[in-house]
Amino acid sequence: MFEGLSERLSGVFDRLTRQGALSEADVATALREVRVALLEADVSLPVARDFIAKVQEKATGQAVTKSVTPGQQVVKIVNDELTAMLAGDDAEAGRLRVDSPPAPILMVGLQGSGKTTTTAKIAKRLTEREGKRVLMASLDVNRPAAMEQLGILGMRTGVDVLPIVKGQDPIAIARRAKQQATMGGYDVYLLDTAGRLHIDQELMAQVESVRDVAKPHETLLVVDGLTGQDAVNVATEFDGRIGVTGVVLTRMDGDGRGGAALSMRAVTGKPIKFVATGEKLDALEEFHPARIAGRILG
Ligand code: GDP
Repeated sequence: MFEGLSERLSGVFDRLTRQGALSEADVATALREVRVALLEADVSLPVARDFIAKVQEKATGQAVTKSVTPGQQVVKIVNDELTAMLAGDDAEAGRLRVDSPPAPILMVGLQGSGKTTTTAKIAKRLTEREGKRVLMASLDVNRPAAMEQLGILGMRTGVDVLPIVKGQDPIAIARRAKQQATMGGYDVYLLDTAGRLHIDQELMAQVESVRDVAKPHETLLVVDGLTGQDAVNVATEFDGRIGVTGVVLTRMDGDGRGGAALSMRAVTGKPIKFVATGEKLDALEEFHPARIAGRILG
């Protein structure tokens, strides 16, 4: 998922750690290379710049400890800052607030981002790993195929799906889902909202009114990780209008450069909760910043 960046950085760090004493110029050169590597991974310029400034500040401010070489010390600072940039700590990885039943989870995102597939993946995960009773409902009244797709995914995962009632609007469906979840003793219900190809006001207004009715405990934004900085822009827009509690990045199995994952938290302040790594319904991983940083730095 971060092969290109990882390769670039390991080249920089190899050179750095092989040297004994390091001059400020050596460190500056290495950090310039790190910056280029981040930009090539599609991290936005302000985020990359801020990152380098922080590393630089720590690298010059720190006394060299005897146990490590100056090069190793710089690598450690980069590692720590990378983890901080990805989210700080691991507390929110894969965690969903689903403790007070029936807990509504609102799934939002653009059409084609992988929203419906991710809805089913999360439902499956909550059922199998946490023993929750889960209900899914499609609110995409404009696309009958999307509603049917959720029904099929329900059959494949063994998760219950709210029956389709023709002619109902998304708000009526959200109300019916809540009623069914309450009466049926479900722990969690996921509302798969309609997506559009681009953000438009009608879509936002619809999702907003569903949110007001459903009062979700989690609002998860599904974005295509392959779209890099666009994914971050989509997140900023959705968060500004709807308010999201977490992000799921999809298509992280593709040859994307990982920039979306790297700058999501720094730009939006929202945690990435999961990354989706394929079409199969098990292809969902918790997003652990420290582990991802470790993977990037090899
Ligand atoms: P939606 O329009 O946002 O609901 O998108 P869908 O859930 O229908 O997904 C669109 C396509 O992307 C489908 O063919 C999915 O199988 C595929 N897809 C979803 N998530 C992933 C992923 O993480 N990796 C890959 N490679 N494909 C995915």
